Amino acid sequence: MFIYGIKKLALIGFLVLVSTTVNAALQVLACEPEWGALAKSLGGHHVKIYTATTNQQDPHHIQARPSLIAKARRADLLVCTGAELEVGWLPLLLRKSGNPNIQTGNPGYFMATDYVALLDKPTELDRSHGDVHAAGNPHIHLDPERVLKVAKALSQTLIRVDPENQTDYQNKLDSFIKQWQNRIHQWRKQTDSLKGKSIVAYHKSWIYLQQWLGLNELAILETKPGIPPTSSHLSHLLASMKKTPADMIIYASYQDDKAANWLSQKTGIPTVALDISPAKDETLIDWYEQLLNRLIKVQQ
Ligand SMILES: [Zn+2]
Repeated sequence: MFIYGIKKLALIGFLVLVSTTVNAALQVLACEPEWGALAKSLGGHHVKIYTATTNQQDPHHIQARPSLIAKARRADLLVCTGAELEVGWLPLLLRKSGNPNIQTGNPGYFMATDYVALLDKPTELDRSHGDVHAAGNPHIHLDPERVLKVAKALSQTLIRVDPENQTDYQNKLDSFIKQWQNRIHQWRKQTDSLKGKSIVAYHKSWIYLQQWLGLNELAILETKPGIPPTSSHLSHLLASMKKTPADMIIYASYQDDKAANWLSQKTGIPTVALDISPAKDETLIDWYEQLLNRLIKVQQ
């Protein structure tokens, strides 16, 4: 009986230890794969990441499905883009989660766009310019300099939510900054040939990339942000492309390629489909490098 009691105690002790170890990882819910990848680089084994969208989904529009609500209920930290990118589904998800940790203004609520300047910020709120982007263009993760700012802010948030592992988070941030800055230096050299090239894009997904690379945006296939191309808009575009052709037509691999292919067939301008976010388990560095290489290749 006594031995049985000892064994039982040992078992309970073991289970407590296991559950403490399991619970020790911060549950992070990332809205987009880029922030999941960044949180993984900055949090390492202290974080367990669940990503709400894949790079084959439009992050403006997903369903707040039950499995996602269950993840939101358990999250210690929410890492999203903000600036209304997720306005169609995140408020509902937060409400349904009933999780105080990740509600607006609480330490576990992190919106990347709160830490960088936004382009295309309207001077007055006017939704006639489209259904999305009313708070400024939210697609900031395509600018490596802005990513660096977000990384610093996210690291501070990890420390605030999980102060015990402060030293580790600080070390991981230092090593991320070092690697990222080295790459920025290389990417600048590699992409020199892209400077001044002109593009047509499906959606205003790339303006931060354009600014960083020095690309000129000649036109957008969507009539307005979030509003699909109409035939009159496309024929107008075709006429202007015949006068001043762009060097390439860019769209995200999840976006409808019909309009891009149509314009390409009529004009001979090459199209390029880019993964706008990292794939599952892909690092930010590998994803961004691959994206730049695709652009360079189209121009060769
Ligand atoms: Zn958008």
